[in-house]
Amino acid sequence: MKYNRTYNFSAGPAMMPEPVLEEIRDEMLNYRGSGMCVMEMSHRSKVFQQIIDEAEQDLRDLMGIPDNYKVLFIQGGATLQFSMIPMNLMKNGKAVYIETGAWSKKAIAEAKKVGEVIVAASSKDKNYTYVPDCSDLDIPEDADYVYICENETIHGVTWQKLPNTKGHVLVSDQSSMFLSKPCNVSDYGVIYAGVQKNVGPAGMVVVIIREDLIREDLTDLPIYLQYSTHANNGSMYNTPNCWAIYCCGKVFKYLKSIGGLEEMEKRNIAKAKVIYDFLDSSKMFKGTVEPEFRSLMNIPFVTESAELDAEVVAATKAAGYDNLKGHKSVGGLRASVYNAMPKEGAEALVDFLRKFEAEHK
Ligand SMILES: *Cc1c(COP(=O)(O)O)cnc(C)c1O
Repeated sequence: MKYNRTYNFSAGPAMMPEPVLEEIRDEMLNYRGSGMCVMEMSHRSKVFQQIIDEAEQDLRDLMGIPDNYKVLFIQGGATLQFSMIPMNLMKNGKAVYIETGAWSKKAIAEAKKVGEVIVAASSKDKNYTYVPDCSDLDIPEDADYVYICENETIHGVTWQKLPNTKGHVLVSDQSSMFLSKPCNVSDYGVIYAGVQKNVGPAGMVVVIIREDLIREDLTDLPIYLQYSTHANNGSMYNTPNCWAIYCCGKVFKYLKSIGGLEEMEKRNIAKAKVIYDFLDSSKMFKGTVEPEFRSLMNIPFVTESAELDAEVVAATKAAGYDNLKGHKSVGGLRASVYNAMPKEGAEALVDFLRKFEAEHK
């Protein structure tokens, strides 16, 4: 490899496309004749306004975001949305949540501080290894929204079919699958994603929200926590995360240049298949998720023992494959293969694991 970079299987922050990093490098000291780095620039400058406008437009083009949706760039990561969602969307003080893993659990815990949470379905009974059937949920008429985490980063579970919300607003945490495949935005009321998994540097969340859900009457809420504050000020009520917006904008352009989300999905399917095919044929390693609900992005797997798991993690690290240790709540191993992980990375990992298995029979 040109820069002696490692194949980084981290769940986030994660790899970025190399051409994007090169462009950022080339513009580091003097962004397009401005005489400054983007880090040094006023967010009120014309140059930066163009950066944020283009970032938003490119994202709109990529996802086909309808005009009646706002795109917001907010600080506080995806975690702050666990609070902002119920604070802004609970009109009747009641919402339905689906519990499919660690991240939906966290969102549930925060929402409970704001109002009544009805957990209408859960996969806790099988340690979050599947997505429950949500075709006919018991949803109270006055529930304000139905909430899902569309790809559970820690448990490696993903939704194949959205829940039947029976006409209620759907809210989705797409942090670890954002832009990994085409998305029909009008199926949702709110989509949000912390960008450090699949797009850019940490410290920012993209919120795509249908305009009629943005309320102007929440004046008792701290100003920063109202969606209207961000929507009415072009995501610049205060100084935004200029650097993240700039880097994400570059990734949006890069995705457009390779053929958009259809092409990205093709690549992601081919890449994940390399690993899943190996896990299905291996006697030493096995995937932990029911095949139907396997994530394209986060692939947890185990051996027969925690000791052997630890041995594999140490061996992969020594061989130059980083961050394969599973989350502490799940154990085992986890390979995160976001958009920017090349297929060669998945192939190299599988070659290594196959060899390890042969040598440890
Ligand atoms: C990482 C992650 C979060 C938290 O993101 P932060 O930006 O660290 O707050 C929330 N939801 C999902 C699904 C995640 O993967």
